[in-house]
Amino acid sequence: MGQTAKDHGGRLKVEGNLISAHIVRGLWEKYFAEKSMPKVEARNLTPKQFFRFIRDAESSKHIAPNSRESMLKEHGHIIPMEKRGGFVFYVKSEDKWIIIRRSNCTVSVTDVLSHEMRHIFESIDAQGRNIRRQ
Ligand SMILES: [Zn+2]
Repeated sequence: MGQTAKDHGGRLKVEGNLISAHIVRGLWEKYFAEKSMPKVEARNLTPKQFFRFIRDAESSKHIAPNSRESMLKEHGHIIPMEKRGGFVFYVKSEDKWIIIRRSNCTVSVTDVLSHEMRHIFESIDAQGRNIRRQ
């Protein structure tokens, strides 16, 4: 098990290259402006970091990953981990969303971000609060 998403005194440590907050905010304002933007952090991870993060995150009590249920609803089946290019997590302890993108993914940064942001958008109220999970 890697240490990517392990808890460090209640805080989450995520590896990878931060995607500019400017890009993230720009996309939110372009597509999702009807709701206040919550705290969102986006990162490009190497495939190794990406899969390790997902594995760790799914076992961390501080994180609520996309449930299998919502994945089934969206895609009709469970997407194998190696086929996933992006993922979004809600970090309860920090009231923050983290979007990760696999750096060798063929889908562009903006397309992955907008896709994952749609999931955030559908999970929050007009004030940007998560209404799906506490
Ligand atoms: Zn999705």
